[in-house]
Amino acid sequence: RAGEFVIEARGLTAGYGGTPAVHEFDLDVRAGEIVALLGANGAGKSTTLLALAGEVSPIAGTVSFHGDGRRRSLHQRARRGLGFLTEERCVFMQLTGWQNLKLGRGRPEVALEFFPELEEHLTKKVGLLSGGQQQMLALGRVLAGQPRVLLADELSLGLAPLVVERLLAAVRLAADDGVAVVLVEQHVRQALAVADRVQVMRRGRVVMSGEAADLRDDPEGIAAHYISG
Ligand code: ATP
Repeated sequence: RAGEFVIEARGLTAGYGGTPAVHEFDLDVRAGEIVALLGANGAGKSTTLLALAGEVSPIAGTVSFHGDGRRRSLHQRARRGLGFLTEERCVFMQLTGWQNLKLGRGRPEVALEFFPELEEHLTKKVGLLSGGQQQMLALGRVLAGQPRVLLADELSLGLAPLVVERLLAAVRLAADDGVAVVLVEQHVRQALAVADRVQVMRRGRVVMSGEAADLRDDPEGIAAHYISG
């Protein structure tokens, strides 16, 4: 149903060894929406994503997926439509591109609909591809599984601006197809260009949130929250 929240967090507090790194975090993402999580290193973005993915257990609060807040294994969540792209570029270097795509859920051809430029490289070992091609492959593999929710952690880390644009354009395309996206991103301007909404984190809390369109002309307003610690 249009308009319903695909992923929701309420009062989510999560961290490591009982010490919170994220406090009372709230989030709602509908099908077709991209919410970008911004903030300095250590602000708690990755921890938030891990908690949304179910890899880190909440200390308090809930994460619901299609209105269902029951805890499930990562495997069960994947079956229910959770796509998670972690900060580590998750590809197998010794396998070819095709072999990597076949390890994912869904049809490898779908990955090529997002990244046709990968086709000519799929018979090569992934270790021989550029960082950008590897990341397109990793994102393409997740999107080929036709997730309902995509959680993507710094997918543009260390990549050239043109590649970053390609990756974020594919994320936008997936959202336009109805995926609910939570995007952790270091590139503020590029994140604002594709996101619908933004939440800026500092010290494990959301310190600013708003419509991306309202913030595009004022990225410095966001930068003011990039004080680490
Ligand atoms: P980055 O961009 O550097 O990944 P971030 O905003 O994603 O930053 P987190 O990685 O979520 O921030 O880190 C939030 C806090 O949790 C930091 O103080 C960090 O040191 C701590 N932290 C992260 N991972 C762990 C871990 N595995 N064990 C213990 N503490 C951790």
